Amino acid sequence: MRHQAVRARLYPTTEQQAVLAQHFGCSRWWWNYALNLCIETYKATGKGLNRAALNAYLPQLKRAEETGWLSECYSQVLQATTVNLVTAYKNFFDGRAKYPKFKAKKNRQSIQYPQSVKVVDGYLKFPGRLGTVKARFHQPMPVVGKIKTVTVSMTPSGKYYASVLIELEGDNPVPSTDGKVAGVDLGLKDFAIVHDGIKTSKYPNPKHLAKHERNLKRKQQKQQRKQKGSKSREKARKRVARVHERIGNASLDYLHKLSRKLVDDNQVIVVESLNTLGMVRNPKLAKAISDVEWGTFVNLLSYKLEKEGKVLVEIDRWFPSSKLCSNCHFQIGEMPLEIRSWTCPNCKTHHDRDENAAQNIRAEGIRILSVSGTGTAADGGEVRPKSGRKSRLRHSPAKSETPRSIPRA
Ligand SMILES: [Zn+2]
Repeated sequence: MRHQAVRARLYPTTEQQAVLAQHFGCSRWWWNYALNLCIETYKATGKGLNRAALNAYLPQLKRAEETGWLSECYSQVLQATTVNLVTAYKNFFDGRAKYPKFKAKKNRQSIQYPQSVKVVDGYLKFPGRLGTVKARFHQPMPVVGKIKTVTVSMTPSGKYYASVLIELEGDNPVPSTDGKVAGVDLGLKDFAIVHDGIKTSKYPNPKHLAKHERNLKRKQQKQQRKQKGSKSREKARKRVARVHERIGNASLDYLHKLSRKLVDDNQVIVVESLNTLGMVRNPKLAKAISDVEWGTFVNLLSYKLEKEGKVLVEIDRWFPSSKLCSNCHFQIGEMPLEIRSWTCPNCKTHHDRDENAAQNIRAEGIRILSVSGTGTAADGGEVRPKSGRKSRLRHSPAKSETPRSIPRA
């Protein structure tokens, strides 16, 4: 099955905003309540709670006097919250995410409608009390496809969005590794250093935050001068939130464009796998780099490659990409971050640090593809030990089939 997400800006009326606020509140409350139930149950019994066990609490909560307001919420929204919590636990146990967190009102709010939302000419028609909400779509809706879930969110600055997940007919093209291979080193000074076997291209870090820093500081100071709890402070808070959102949008836009370019230019893209648990490879970098941006970038690459039958290879993040000489494979012991270029003591080749790393990443990716046999990817078989996207190869699978085709070096 192929899926496509279509985003839209929503323009709810004042009444609809109130309905949404109530739904956000109910969903957030239920998430926190259910998360606490899971934690307490685990402490008492050593076991977790599944979706059915959690949902079984809902009817009694709706009947109870102090939590009766829960019945004002469209029930499938609460059930979708349960599903999200169960998924968050699964992702945690599979090592893909951190332990689920309690939700706070100040962050982005979101709810999900699992089904029966309809798209009608510039509007989204929701079941329950929300009704028909004016929507401006960011891209055209696919002609054929089934609406699966609709996520409605509100940003901290008070803008409303919907993300409509659509199930399309047919499958993605069968992944093939036959074509150009690029190794990508993700860095700080340059966001991405790409080696495609012939040339190396560097894509600078756009530093969106730095550009907005003064503006952000000024607006934050203004907010702090306003009296707590006042209307003008709330307005100032929204202005700060809008700057944050603008920075986020600019950065996402850059990542979309860069991933689009790399996917258009290549058949296989090799990256170092990032630690999804958020530990930064070098603590000194922790402040400066946005690990989140890298994670988003790799996800965008993965998603775009998959749609076109192309392949992402993730190599082990402990692979010494900057310490290896790409010419003779001599490995040096130390490579401090400030060293931007070096000469291999063995073969005397002079290296640009990042270019050499991108070359090594690319070579390692090609090695992984050749030992796994590209057939594994072409068959759509899972090579990854943990569940995830099919077109993503991770680490070095211990398979020793004869490679059916080796990607062009
Ligand atoms: Zn060397």
